[in-house]
Amino acid sequence: MAALSPIDALSALYQGVLKKEEPMARHTTFKVGGPCDLYLEPGSLDDLRIAVAFLTQQGLPLTVVGDGTNLLVRDGGIEGAVISLAGIDIAIKEEKTDGEIFLTVPAGVKTQHLCRFAAVRGYQGLNFATGIPGTVGGALAMNAGTDRGAFGDIVESLTLLDAPGKLRTVEAVALDFAYRHLAIEGVTRHDADFPIIVSARLRLGLGDRDALVSEREELLARRKASQPVNLPSAGCFFKNPPQGPPAGQLIDGLGFKGAIQGGAKVSELHANYLVNIGSATAGDILTLAGRIKERVKQTHGIQLEEEVTLVGREA
Ligand SMILES: Cc1cc2nc3c(=O)[nH]c(=O)nc-3n(C[C@H](O)[C@H](O)[C@H](O)COP(=O)(O)OP(=O)(O)OC[C@H]3O[C@@H](n4cnc5c(N)ncnc54)[C@H](O)[C@@H]3O)c2cc1C
Repeated sequence: MAALSPIDALSALYQGVLKKEEPMARHTTFKVGGPCDLYLEPGSLDDLRIAVAFLTQQGLPLTVVGDGTNLLVRDGGIEGAVISLAGIDIAIKEEKTDGEIFLTVPAGVKTQHLCRFAAVRGYQGLNFATGIPGTVGGALAMNAGTDRGAFGDIVESLTLLDAPGKLRTVEAVALDFAYRHLAIEGVTRHDADFPIIVSARLRLGLGDRDALVSEREELLARRKASQPVNLPSAGCFFKNPPQGPPAGQLIDGLGFKGAIQGGAKVSELHANYLVNIGSATAGDILTLAGRIKERVKQTHGIQLEEEVTLVGREA
């Protein structure tokens, strides 16, 4: 009998989604990006462990993603395997103590599901994240947030999966959260050995259910009015610089609103959003971003840094 190919061997062990040459444009909110060699969406934690152990043994590079809402995948695609945790959507566990609530949240849970879950139960501390798309794993890796707070503020501990398939829990004191940044023992999401975040234990307070729910509605309406939430993007493209005005204000001040490069455009609603107006390539978006960076540097002497996570190879 002929020997099984590595992919056939993996599909014999694993139950989740497994695709070859999968266009990443299908898995990013920017709707751009070339194919990855293998795309996996494990259906359970066991599936994830099997896949990670197998792919590591095969020596394939692994890229872990959530919902792709912060990703800009280059047109040449991603070498090796992409594993999305978005399919592992298991239950949130609740634990109540005197005046505090602890939630254990699997990384694949949608951030918006978590925010609603907390507000309707009167748990306080998550409304800052109202409207942030993507998964909780992605939100933690990014330390996603708004001017009202960020995920790092409420993390008690993270459970991680290392490349050989070993689970461990790391307490908040060992986690370095900063503006759109998380380092776990000195390793960030830009490093190949960044561990997979499998779940988080979050600390919340007790609040007033009706007040939390109406605050949510107000925050969602404000977001809809000020951000192009219905056009393909990855949210704010650049981080706000530590000194000086926010990136959107700098870009708007230079007259970039509405600027077009191929299928990419600077949103008219919010100048820090680059949007795909239908046929953008990652190359178009990067060229437009490069024009903005150059002008901001020339005019203000400020070096803008990407908030979006750039991955993959050149076309
Ligand atoms: C319309 C719009 C509005 C947005 N508004 C905001 C906002 O207000 N504030 C904000 O902070 N962001 C915002 N974003 C950006 C984005 O939604 C957040 O960064 C989000 O938390 C990313 O989650 P994700 O699951 O999509 O992660 P992905 O985009 O899939 O991945 C992001 C990074 O996290 C890593 N990662 C993902 N999951 C894991 C895991 N389980 N373990 C280890 N690493 C992992 C990936 O490798 C990658 O480096 C917005 C995006 C859009 C499209």
